[in-house]
Amino acid sequence: MHDVVVVGAGCAGMRAAIEAFDTGASVGVVSKLHPTRSHSGAAEGGINAALGNAAEDSPEKHAFDTVKGSDYLGDQDAIEILAAEAPGDIYQLEHWGCVFSRNGEGKLAQRPFGAAGSPRTVYSADITGHVLIHVLYEQTMKRMEQGSTPMHVYEEFFAWRLAVEDGRCVGVVCWDLVNGGLRLITGRSVVIATGGMGRIYRVTTNAYACNGDGMAMALHAGVPLKDVEFMQFHPTTLYPSGVLITEACRGEGGYLLNRDGERFMARYAPNALELASRDVVSRSETTEIEAGRDVSGSMLLDLRHLGAERIRTRLPGSRELALTFAGVDPIFDPIPVRPGAHYHMGGIATDNWGATELEGLYAAGEVACVSVHGSNRLGGNSLMETITFGRRAGQAAAERALSAAPAGTVSDVPLVQAQRDLETLLARKDGERPWKIRDELGSSMLENFGVFRYTERMQEQLEIIVALRERYEHVVVEDKGDVFNTDLTQAIELGSMLDVAWCMVQAGLAREESRGSHSRPAEFPERDDERFLKHSVTQWTDGGPELSYKEVRMTKWQPEVRSY
Ligand SMILES: Cc1cc2nc3c(=O)[nH]c(=O)nc-3n(C[C@H](O)[C@H](O)[C@H](O)COP(=O)(O)OP(=O)(O)OC[C@H]3O[C@@H](n4cnc5c(N)ncnc54)[C@H](O)[C@@H]3O)c2cc1C
Repeated sequence: MHDVVVVGAGCAGMRAAIEAFDTGASVGVVSKLHPTRSHSGAAEGGINAALGNAAEDSPEKHAFDTVKGSDYLGDQDAIEILAAEAPGDIYQLEHWGCVFSRNGEGKLAQRPFGAAGSPRTVYSADITGHVLIHVLYEQTMKRMEQGSTPMHVYEEFFAWRLAVEDGRCVGVVCWDLVNGGLRLITGRSVVIATGGMGRIYRVTTNAYACNGDGMAMALHAGVPLKDVEFMQFHPTTLYPSGVLITEACRGEGGYLLNRDGERFMARYAPNALELASRDVVSRSETTEIEAGRDVSGSMLLDLRHLGAERIRTRLPGSRELALTFAGVDPIFDPIPVRPGAHYHMGGIATDNWGATELEGLYAAGEVACVSVHGSNRLGGNSLMETITFGRRAGQAAAERALSAAPAGTVSDVPLVQAQRDLETLLARKDGERPWKIRDELGSSMLENFGVFRYTERMQEQLEIIVALRERYEHVVVEDKGDVFNTDLTQAIELGSMLDVAWCMVQAGLAREESRGSHSRPAEFPERDDERFLKHSVTQWTDGGPELSYKEVRMTKWQPEVRSY
């Protein structure tokens, strides 16, 4: 048995594993992907910390911007922790070898990002996630080879279910992707860090691995999700593929045009323009598209005035993506973009140390909801959250494991149950293929639970999800083999996606207001602090999701009307 099992090896998972190990725990890391293929590696624009290298800044300002950006739904104590601890965490990453871009004085460079009062986004050109994930993997590998306390990575192990015994989480049931077979990997503490669920939508910046597995595992173990109705749509995803073009393009001075060549953000956010918060820019674009001022379904992101040199040095990755996926060279032509599903603000409800309601279970990163993002995340805050709260969750999980009474043997009941369910699934010879259900889920979520939301469409979406779940009961997995059976794992992932989608839409329907990324322009166009300045909490029951609410923790900022 490990002291700590971390499920997920993105930035949050590896940061948690490193801290747990450094606290003295033996650690097992489970990941369905090789760690450096985790989706964190795709992050482009940067990571926020109030270093004050580009202009005057402070953790207090960082915290206020984040509270305001969250449309006052973020828990202010958690936000203050993030802002206060971020600078130390950045210097630690830098000392571990992160090659961040520098300014003329040789200090860490910082660029402006949306809704930030000061340029505070630290970056490595526009491949920040790639740099972070490799440094964290180096640090993980270093610990695998060092000392008497073991660190082990279960690479390409697919986690399916949590093992719970006597009200404590004691491990995770996994499918070994390389060799086949189920394994129960046990730990005194378990940290879930499985990332987001953007694949629930057809147009998304998220990788194929982002399916909400961890959220579904927690739900089915009786752990509530928080604020699941809030899905961020990023305003600049490539048309038509949905590949992200980073906010750093606008941070560097790029602007958005409609079909008339008008810089339309001047009408929606006269001060912040393209650097208003993402919910505001996505809604503005959608309004322009719906009014017919689009260019074949897209808006245009213009970088040409930045000049070839700046595009090549500061935004090389974005140029490459535009060339590869849209056939456009931004040095000469504007890039076609539109809003796409990008980041899930909701997730497994945790306290400020990553602890969940289930003893022994922790969560960190995009899968978790601490909550620092409330109803709308600021660009650059998510990577920071993975590091700061990944570290805190790793430490807390290790301290608990090391102080808990030595566990006896863990029963094999969860393994036997999983084996039985697996055999039932694989024994089925006829039925519908999972991908059809997946496609319908993705298209209907985009249609009915996107940038703008309407009661009737959300009700329709609930009915669609319930019907898709019924069809899901009869899906057939054609590949019956053991080696890299992605047919099997994709079928399991689909089950998670359907359950998380159900929770999202149900919570969305119940929130009768417009706040952050949840916009109901026809029926409830205003924020309603009296009724809804509270977190939604979703629990799983035999009849589906059940909703309740929880107070937002405020420290010093009272809600004001946001303007940009
Ligand atoms: C294209 C893109 C660009 C972005 N750019 C930025 C940016 O510039 N700045 C910023 O702050 N944020 C950015 N974000 C958001 C940010 O990158 C993510 O929120 C963050 O990296 C998520 O990290 P994570 O560790 O929580 O999850 P991930 O990095 O997604 O890692 C999840 C891990 O869990 C594992 N896993 C998942 N399911 C299972 C399972 N069932 N069994 C076993 N293992 C499993 C995966 O293998 C992986 O190792 C961006 C997001 C996208 C999509």
